[in-house]
Amino acid sequence: MSRVMAQIAMVMNLDKCIGCHTCSVTCKQTWTNRGGVEYVWFNNVETRPGQGYPRGYEDQDRWKGGWRLRNGRLTPRSGGRVRRLGRLFANPELPLLDDYYQPWTYDYENLVNAPLGDDVPTAAPRSLVDGAPASITWGPNWDDDLGGGPAHLAGDPVLRRVSDEVRLEYERSFMFYLPRICEHCLNPSCVAVCPSGAMYKRLEDGIVLVDQDRCRGWRMCVTGCPYKKVYFNHHSGKAEKCTMCYPRIEAGEPTVCSETCVGRLRYLGVMLYDADRVGEAAAVAREEDLYPAQLGCFLSPDDPEVAAAAEASGVPHDWVLAARRSPVYSLIVRHRVALPLHPEYRTMPMVWYVPPLSPVVDALAGTGHDGEDAGNLFGAIDALRIPLSYLAGLFTAGDTAPVETALRRLAAMRSHMRAINLGEEPDPAVAEAVGMRPA
Ligand code: SF4
Ligand code: SF4
Repeated sequence: MSRVMAQIAMVMNLDKCIGCHTCSVTCKQTWTNRGGVEYVWFNNVETRPGQGYPRGYEDQDRWKGGWRLRNGRLTPRSGGRVRRLGRLFANPELPLLDDYYQPWTYDYENLVNAPLGDDVPTAAPRSLVDGAPASITWGPNWDDDLGGGPAHLAGDPVLRRVSDEVRLEYERSFMFYLPRICEHCLNPSCVAVCPSGAMYKRLEDGIVLVDQDRCRGWRMCVTGCPYKKVYFNHHSGKAEKCTMCYPRIEAGEPTVCSETCVGRLRYLGVMLYDADRVGEAAAVAREEDLYPAQLGCFLSPDDPEVAAAAEASGVPHDWVLAARRSPVYSLIVRHRVALPLHPEYRTMPMVWYVPPLSPVVDALAGTGHDGEDAGNLFGAIDALRIPLSYLAGLFTAGDTAPVETALRRLAAMRSHMRAINLGEEPDPAVAEAVGMRPA
C-alpha cells in the first residue's frame, strides 16, 4: 500500500452556530492579543450571504494581480507591469487593511449629545486606529444588518451564481454563520509559494505552521492562500496564522475554539489519507469531481491493511486508534454529511462543514411543516429557504447532488430521533434512509 499519513481535521455543524463569536474572542485572547495583529482573527465567523473576511476573499480578482479561476483552475492573474515588478521587488497583490477592517467604535459624542430631531439617530462607525476618521462602511458581520435584500445579495460572489429569481426575492432572504480557521490543507498553496521555506506542514499531524526565524516577510503566503488565512504582523514583519493550537493538541487537549464553542459544533479528529493520491486528486479536470476526488484520498481506519500501512509509514499506533474513533471520519466519509469549503481552490482543505438544514418556504411544497420533517423534505428539497445552489457554490464547486444527500440525511435523522424522543413509533422508511434499524 502507498504512503499513509495522519491529519488533524475539523468538522463544523453549521446548524448549531449562533454567531456569538466566543470562538473568535478566545482565539484572539490566546494567539493574537498583541501589537501588529490587531486586525487579525485566526478564527472568524462570517455572515452568509456576505463578503467574508477579508472582504471579498472569494473574488480575488479584485486585488491587483491576485488569483482567479481560469479553466477551472486557480491561477495567478497576470497583472502586466505591476505583476512583473511585484515579482522582482515586492508583493503588491495583497488585501488592504480596509478589506480586513480596522477595529472601530461608535461616535458616542454624536450619539449622546446630538440635538433632538425627528430623525432616528444613526452613528457612523469610526476607526480606533490612530484615531483616524473612518471611511469604513463595512466590517465583519456588517452583512447581518443588511438584511438579505437585493443590493446586499448582489454583492455576494457566491450568490451571483444563483438565479435572479432566487436572488431578488426578499421573502426568501436567508442568513447563516460560517466560522472559519486555516484549513490546514493537504495540498497547501501557502507552503508552495513561500520563497524562504518558512511555511511548513508537519509530517506527524498535518498542521501548517510558520517558522518565525525563517520568515522574511515576503507575504507571498498571504497572496497564495485562497482562503486568505495567513496574516502579516506589522510589528514583527513576519507572517502568522492559525496554529491549530498545536501545543494543546500535543497535550491531548482540543483547540481553544473547539473547547469554548457555545454551540458545541466543532468536531476534531484524525483522518488517515493516501499521500500519493493527493496530487492526483487536486489535479482532476472537472470542478464537480473535486469533492469525490478529495473523498477518495481518505482511508478507512477500520481496515487492518490501512492500519498496518499507516504504522509502517510512521503513524503512531495511538493515532491509528484515534482515527478509528474519529467523529470526523464518520461525518465526512461514513455518513457523507460533511462537505469541504471551496474544493475548487484545489488545496484539499481539511476543515469541513455540515451544511445548514433550513426550513421549507414554498407554500406549495407541502403542509407548512419545516425542513425537519423528513417526509416533507423528501419531496421539497427545492423549496428550502437556503437554496441548494448557494450551498453547492460554497461546498461542492456547484454540484448540488452531495449537498442534497447530506440535507436529506440530516432531515431524516432529526425526524427519526424526534420520534424516538417523543415516544412515537419511528417511520421505518425514515430509519432506513438514515441507515438505522427501526427502533
Ligand atoms: Fe495554507 Fe491557506 Fe490552506 Fe491554511 S488555508 S493551509 S494558510 S493554503
Ligand atoms: Fe459559532 Fe461556536 Fe463560534 Fe459561537 S463559539 S460563533 S456557536 S462556532
